[in-house]
Amino acid sequence: MDYKIENEYLNDLMQKVMARNANEPEFHQAVYEFLNSIAPALPVHPELIEKQVLERIVEPERQIMFRVAWIDDNGRIQVNRGYRIQFNSAIGPYKGGIRLHPSVNLSILKFLGFEQIFKNSLTGLPMGGAKGGSDFDPKGKSDNEVMAFCQSFMRELYRHIGPDCDVPAGDIGTGAREIGFMFGQYKKIVNEFSGVLTGKKLSFGGSLARTEATGYGLCYFVNALLREKMDTSFEGKTVVISGSGNVAIYATEKAQQLGAKVVALSDSNGYVYDPEGIKLDIVKDIKEVKRGRISEYADRVPSAKYTADANGSKGIWTIPCDIALPCATQNELNLDSAKTLVANGVKVVGEGANMPTTLDATKFFQDNGVFFTPGKASNAGGVATSGLEMCQNSARLSWTFEEVDARLKGIMENIFHTVDATAKEVGCENNYVVGANIAGLLKVSDAMIAQGCI
Ligand code: NDP
Repeated sequence: MDYKIENEYLNDLMQKVMARNANEPEFHQAVYEFLNSIAPALPVHPELIEKQVLERIVEPERQIMFRVAWIDDNGRIQVNRGYRIQFNSAIGPYKGGIRLHPSVNLSILKFLGFEQIFKNSLTGLPMGGAKGGSDFDPKGKSDNEVMAFCQSFMRELYRHIGPDCDVPAGDIGTGAREIGFMFGQYKKIVNEFSGVLTGKKLSFGGSLARTEATGYGLCYFVNALLREKMDTSFEGKTVVISGSGNVAIYATEKAQQLGAKVVALSDSNGYVYDPEGIKLDIVKDIKEVKRGRISEYADRVPSAKYTADANGSKGIWTIPCDIALPCATQNELNLDSAKTLVANGVKVVGEGANMPTTLDATKFFQDNGVFFTPGKASNAGGVATSGLEMCQNSARLSWTFEEVDARLKGIMENIFHTVDATAKEVGCENNYVVGANIAGLLKVSDAMIAQGCI
C-alpha cells in the first residue's frame, strides 16, 4: 500500500516508517491512521517537532521474539514463536494483552502495541503501551496442551515482565484459563505472588467486572455519544455485533440491558441472524462453557438463521441496523460493507475490536455523517479495568462489582468527552479519530519530553 500524507513533515516520517519496517502492512496502516490525523496539533504544539517526539514514538522501545517449544498430547515437540513488543513506557509500566492466534506476526503485534500507547493514555491511568502473543492456536487443543504452551511461553517471558515493569493481559485466544496457566508458571519461577498479569480469576487477584469490561465499556462510550450528539440512547435500537468472543458477548449483554435489540453475532466461519433478538444465555453456554461455534446457536434457536461465510463473516454487515459494533478482529469491515451499512441506515459505528474498520471504510462513514468511534477510544474499557485490577493488587484489596463498574462507566464517559472536546478544539468536530489520537498523544508527549532523550 502506498500511503501519502498531505503534510510534508508527516509524509516524510511515514515513508521512513515504511522503509524501515518493510513487510509490516498492519503496522503501516496503524501508523498512517495516526500520523494522517495529527496535523492539526502541530501548529499548536511545536514541541512535537522540535523534540522529535513523533520519530521516537513510532519506534518500539524494545521488541522481543523467542522460541516456544512444548510437547503435545502425542508426545511430539511443537514449536511456536513468542513475542512481546514493549512500545512506550513514558507514562507507566508497559501494559497490553497477549494474543494467541495462528495469524499473529510482528506486524500485527506492532500495530496493536502502537495503538495501545494512545488507548492507555486516554484512560487517564498510568500505563505504557505494549502487546505480545504467539502464532499458537488454542482452538482444538486439549487443556494439557494449552497449559504446556503457556508454561513454555512464560519460561522465556518472565524475565522481561514484572508488576512495575510490564503487566500483560488477555486478548484474542487468551482468556482466564490461559492467564491462570501463565500466572502459575511466573509465580513458580520468580517465587513471588504479584500483580504481574491482569485478567486473573477472582480467587487469585482478579477484578470483578474485568471479564465484562471491554464490551460494557464500549456501550458506555457509545451511549454517551448517543446522548450528547443525538439526544437518544440504546433504547429501541437495532444492533449488529461481529464476533462472539469476550468483547462481543459483553457488548451484547450491556446493549440489551440498555434496551437495544442485538440481532446478529459471528465467528470466523459465519454469522447468525436472530430477528427476535439474540438469547445471550444460549450464546454464553455455547462459547464460554462448551467452547463451541456460533453455528450451534441456530441449531438451538428456531428463530435464528446461520449463514456460513468463507469471507471471515463479512456478510454480517448486510443486516440492517442503527448501530454496528465490530468486535472480532482487524480489517473485518471494508469499504463495500461500509457502503451497505450506510445504505441500510446505520447511524453509529463503534469499534470494539482493534482496527476492525479499513481506512477507506472509516473515511466513508465520516463522509456520510455516521458517527465513527475508533477502538483506541471506545474499547479502552478493558485496559482501564486492568488498571483497576493493578490498583487492587497493589493495595491487596478487592472492590465490589458495582464499584469497578461505576469507575469503568466514569472512565468511558470521560474518554468520550475528552475525545469529543479535543476534536472540537482542533477544528475537526465529530472526528473521533483525530480527537483520540491527539488527546492520547499529548499526555505521552509531555512525559517523553520531561524525561529527556529517551
Ligand atoms: P476472543 O478470542 O474472545 O474472540 C474473538 C472473536 O473474533 C471470536 O468470535 C473469533 O471467532 C472472531 N475472530 C477472530 N479472528 C477472526 C477472523 N480472522 N475473522 C473473523 N472472526 C474472527 O477475543 P476478544 O473478544 O477478547 O477480542 C476481540 C477483539 O477485541 C480483538 O481485536 C481484540 O484485540 C480486541 N480487544 C479485546 C479486549 C479484551 O479485553 N478482550 C480489549 C480491547 C480490545 P473464531 O472463534 O472463529 O476465531
